[in-house]
Amino acid sequence: MSSLPFLPFTRPSIDEATIAAVGEVLRSGWITSGPKVQAFEAALSEYCGGRTVRAFNSGTATLEIALRLAGVGPGDEVITTPLTWVATANVILEVGARPVFVDVDPATRNIDAAKIAAAITAKTKALIPVDLAGLPADRDALYAVAGQHKLRVVEDAAQSLGASWNGKPIGAFGDFVSFSFHANKNLTTSEGGALVLPPDVDPALCEHLRLQGVKRFPNGDMDVDVLGGKFNLTDVAAAIGLGQLPHLAAFTARRRALARRYFERLDPQLGLGLPLPDFANSNWHMFQVLLPPGTDRGAFIAAMKGRGLGVGVHYPALHLFSLYRARGWKEGDFPHAEDIGRRIATLPLFPAMADGDVDRVCSALGEILRLQ
Ligand SMILES: *Cc1c(COP(=O)(O)O)cnc(C)c1O
Repeated sequence: MSSLPFLPFTRPSIDEATIAAVGEVLRSGWITSGPKVQAFEAALSEYCGGRTVRAFNSGTATLEIALRLAGVGPGDEVITTPLTWVATANVILEVGARPVFVDVDPATRNIDAAKIAAAITAKTKALIPVDLAGLPADRDALYAVAGQHKLRVVEDAAQSLGASWNGKPIGAFGDFVSFSFHANKNLTTSEGGALVLPPDVDPALCEHLRLQGVKRFPNGDMDVDVLGGKFNLTDVAAAIGLGQLPHLAAFTARRRALARRYFERLDPQLGLGLPLPDFANSNWHMFQVLLPPGTDRGAFIAAMKGRGLGVGVHYPALHLFSLYRARGWKEGDFPHAEDIGRRIATLPLFPAMADGDVDRVCSALGEILRLQ
């Protein structure tokens, strides 16, 4: 047992000014969507090069509304990766469409863009690429295939705020871009999300879908002409986001430095599968290794916990969940995603970590894997 404090695999960094700002919102008398949400949307828009941004109460809601705005519905197919948080595929089912999975490239662990064309049918309406661990999926290849086949793209950038592609921030270019501000993401509002809108989409429609389809008129009348949901962000949450955004660049820089230290300190003899060492684009949302084939992951996680170290699993290949098996997917459909999903382990990485914490994780890995 370790006498050092427990090191979780992630922890949000929220400063005192943000905590005070949340207190101010609570005292203001206006605690749901209001001026803080508008200010947060404006700040995100500025970050995204002036593009239109609307905030939501979760990344999942953001993705679902993006699909609705992209015109995806019953009878349509949407291409995505099986190696992601299950929300990515659940929202496709939620709008009545069918997910079509394409296996990942084992080097990036993101959708293999070279395999997308073969999965396109007359019913394909959209692509949802996911930037696993904050490493952007190949935007050049994705937009080339989307352009060729006239497909909409909904970038699931839940993990990649702060990352970039060819020097441009994720969110500052492309079609729909969906962010999540869940507690574990690089920028948090506790729970929340935001959608970057392409120019052909009416922001008013986005707002109607976000809140019960309600349209209000200056004389106090209202109408409802589309079926909307209850997906609005609160000012309490937006105040957290406003406090986080100025730190984003520093968070990303610190994550990159810690990731570099992992590469320096991890013993190559352990036989771990390492992430792509990308220090130009990735925001290092997670540092994920593949355990050597045959390692008992449950025992490994328990042994790390015994040493006061948190390890996460992000994610098992989702087509093997019961909900998806019941829809016909099975073992062997996507061999790379399945292999990675069985062996992947998320090591501690968050901005407030000390260099010595990385060293502690690396020594524990050495001891445990040599014992196994
Ligand atoms: C977190 C996440 C989501 C969902 O975001 P929530 O805010 O938790 O609803 C979707 N896709 C990916 C890849 C995620 O990591």
